[in-house]
Parts: sequence; structure tokens; C-alpha cells
Amino acid sequence: MNSHTYDYDYLDGNAAAGELSAIFPMDITASEGQCAHCGAIKRFAEAHVYMQAPGLVVRCSVCQHVLLRLVRARQRAFLDLRGMTCFTLDTSQLQESS
Ligand SMILES: [Zn+2]
Repeated sequence: MNSHTYDYDYLDGNAAAGELSAIFPMDITASEGQCAHCGAIKRFAEAHVYMQAPGLVVRCSVCQHVLLRLVRARQRAFLDLRGMTCFTLDTSQLQESS
């Protein structure tokens, strides 16, 4: 495993919102996730997003551990959330729009 490739540019969590909005109906950038590696609880918008990888990789802004991986292929989306202990989603918008 190569763990020294963090020097390329990353985007913030807002950059991932477009891809993730195809899966989650709520505003994903307002959600909070707890890193399974360092325990930091951060808003998704603060996370580091790497679009260069196949699909999309979201890393913890504190320890760079992978929080979320998303690969979309044809009619399927592969979502890997094991890097997060807890993922808290704001569902208030869903109730407003009913
Ligand atoms: Zn972390």
C-alpha cells in the first residue's frame, strides 16, 4: 500500500455533493461523519475530496483516513462507508418538501 500520495490537490466536501446527490436526497454537505480512525466528528463539507481516483474518495481532514468511497458504474453505485463510525444526515429538508 502506498500511503505517501497525499500531495496532489484535493477539493472540499462540496465538490462531492453533486455525485452524492444522485444517491442521497438530502444535502450531504450538511451531514456529519465520525472518522473511524481518529474519532474526529466533522461536517462533510470540511472533508477532503479526491476526484482523481476511480470514482470519488473522501478523506478525513484531520488524519487523511478514507471516510467514504463511491464508484458509479452503469446502473449501480458502490458505496463504501466503513471509514466512518457514524454518519449523521439532516433529514429536515425532506419533511419540508412533502
Ligand atoms: Zn480521522
